[in-house]
Amino acid sequence: MRLNGCRIHVKMHLVASDEQIIGNLKASGERMTVARREIIRAFTRSSSPLSVKAILETLKNKEISANKTTVYRELKFLAKKNILRAIQFDERNRRYELAPEEHRHHLICTTCKRIDDVVLNHDLDEVEQRVKDQKKFKVERHALEFYGVCEMCQD
Ligand SMILES: [Zn+2]
Ligand SMILES: [Zn+2]
Repeated sequence: MRLNGCRIHVKMHLVASDEQIIGNLKASGERMTVARREIIRAFTRSSSPLSVKAILETLKNKEISANKTTVYRELKFLAKKNILRAIQFDERNRRYELAPEEHRHHLICTTCKRIDDVVLNHDLDEVEQRVKDQKKFKVERHALEFYGVCEMCQD
């Protein structure tokens, strides 16, 4: 069996925690309302896709006032941010689930310290295979950082 380290890595980090998601949104300057926070938590706690109805129910149980329009707007927002993805079971029955995270590597600019990221197509599959062959080491995951100068910092 050929192990694909990157695929395993993706599985291990399939979903982010609510703290991570909330932290990232705040860091990118987004508002964090009580409803938004609770909707994110509902998804990180649920192992199955959630409907608008189920989310409204959750918010009601937590005594958070939010109507259908608010929930729809929040779901649309979170989908646009690639935090959620919509699953269409049928015309009327749309549900949402947490979008799986892509395995990324950091690009760190040594001039402005900005951190960007990159997704590589075949990534380190070959390298991991070589590590396995040479060292009999079963790679479970890897991390890779590139240091250099970003486009904006290049004259
Ligand atoms: Zn830079
Ligand atoms: Zn990788």
